[in-house]
Amino acid sequence: MALNQVYFLKNIFMKKFEIVTIFPQIFDSYFGESIIGRARQKKLIEINTHDLRGFAQDKHKTVDDTPYGGGAGMVLKVEPIFRALEKIKNDSTVESSARRTILFSAKGKKFTQQDAQRLSEYEELVLVCGRYEGVDERVAENLIDEEISIGDYVLTGGEIPAMVLVDSVSRLEEGVLGNAQSFQDESHSQSGYLEYPQYTKPEIFNDWKVPPILLSGDHGEIAAWRQEQSKKNQEKI
Ligand code: SAM
Repeated sequence: MALNQVYFLKNIFMKKFEIVTIFPQIFDSYFGESIIGRARQKKLIEINTHDLRGFAQDKHKTVDDTPYGGGAGMVLKVEPIFRALEKIKNDSTVESSARRTILFSAKGKKFTQQDAQRLSEYEELVLVCGRYEGVDERVAENLIDEEISIGDYVLTGGEIPAMVLVDSVSRLEEGVLGNAQSFQDESHSQSGYLEYPQYTKPEIFNDWKVPPILLSGDHGEIAAWRQEQSKKNQEKI
């Protein structure tokens, strides 16, 4: 296959993230910087935000309402989310089997590195960010493939979870990290694995020394030391 064909194919299958949110500007800074910003510039990934208020149909752009049965706070309505997801689907060139739609929820399945790896197989990830007291349950029942929590705590919205997911999946995309080895040896890359300690120059700072083995140049000994340290890290938690 000619090089330009490889380049063309790679770009056809560029990973796409479609984020439904009531606060699209939240993402501008984080996704404009560093590794993710460069990956976007290089067209290795594409991130689009969709303002949920644009899918409200009344003049006040209402996206939330009080909960049936009473209780505190407001709940995001099903209709604007339905319309947003329909538009994303209709505008997409991606086969439905290559798309995964995710709702962020504190009661969802806890996100792990294995989930990041599994989700990296999809071409398009559609992410729905909740707010307020949450999202009308009919969204979870009818419109999404899975509900994800990023941990056992409650945040004010699904935007930080969306950043966590986009970041962790993007760095698994070919070409996003400079060195493929960097993510293969990382903590959680295999079940239970935690990385060994890392040090850089200077050798001594404030009387705090880099372990002498790392300066020995003996690669076999260094590998054995790292393995032992990594095991110790796993025993700590
Ligand atoms: N009332 C909900 C409950 O008790 O589970 C919490 C709603 S929370 C204040 C508002 C939104 O933030 C949620 O709909 C969800 O999208 C997001 N969120 C909060 N904590 C989260 C977590 N740990 N993981 C993923 N999303 C979370």
